[in-house]
Amino acid sequence: MPFSFSTKTKNELARVLPGKHCCLTAELAALIGTAGRFNFDNPEDPILLLQTENAAVARKVYRLFKALYKINPQLKVLRQNRLKKHALYRLKVSVRELPDILRGEHDQVLQPAYRNLVRRRCCQKAFLRGTFLATGSVSNPEKDYHLELLVRDELKAGLVCTIMEEFHLHPKVIKRKGELMIYLKNSNEIGDFLRLTGASRAILDFENTRVVRQVKNGVNRVVNCETANLNKSVDTGVRQAEDIIFLKQRLELDKLPRALRETAALRLENPQASLKELGEALDLSKSGVNHRLRRLAELAEKLREGSERGAAP
Ligand SMILES: [Zn+2]
Repeated sequence: MPFSFSTKTKNELARVLPGKHCCLTAELAALIGTAGRFNFDNPEDPILLLQTENAAVARKVYRLFKALYKINPQLKVLRQNRLKKHALYRLKVSVRELPDILRGEHDQVLQPAYRNLVRRRCCQKAFLRGTFLATGSVSNPEKDYHLELLVRDELKAGLVCTIMEEFHLHPKVIKRKGELMIYLKNSNEIGDFLRLTGASRAILDFENTRVVRQVKNGVNRVVNCETANLNKSVDTGVRQAEDIIFLKQRLELDKLPRALRETAALRLENPQASLKELGEALDLSKSGVNHRLRRLAELAEKLREGSERGAAP
């Protein structure tokens, strides 16, 4: 099976090794902060577990630990269930071996030092590369312009977005399944991200495809003169979220097809988001999202009517 554009990009970025100590540390910090989990179950010997589906990424993490701290992580290859094609690589490190700075993200005392890790330009690039390697993906430009990074919490999202903005990128953030998805939709900006993280081969493929697409689009460009009434759309979003809560309370939500459940969950987490933003997160057209939300609203309406009638004497 040929690799996806995303996997190819990751494989390439996994092979980029910055020359400077500062950048190596920043990249490892990003990988740990995004793909790592600290486990303090055994207070005598807390551990750090880092998981990835990408063998090249696992190799890189291993090399970084070794080069920076002479730590040899324990590596385990886990077979996932049959539905998942890829193996899972799990690296385990004893927290006692780790320098404090790498645990600094959520530690009030260590946080300023942690932020210092990404003060320099060179390190910021390395940090973005590490984050992308940990949880990022990028769509094949033939199909869609979409690059995303998944992070666990607002603190991390804030840090990643600030760095991206330093490079004149304009990421958006949306909640998805309890995580935060930071994403880019602009083809120029996706190109810039690939360039600044060092994916030179991927950027060539990306730019070639982009030129072809631009020529095609130029032929049938339509003037998009849609004017969105923002207040109205926010009201609608809140009403839709209320309908979804109602369906949830009536235990109707779980009976619905996956596509509707997914849309419902996303709307519930983001009542203020526009249809366009929801569509971007779901990889769906605006009208596709609208259609699904309308079906949910109709269902809620029907149930409400039914219960009113049922309550009448
Ligand atoms: Zn650096």
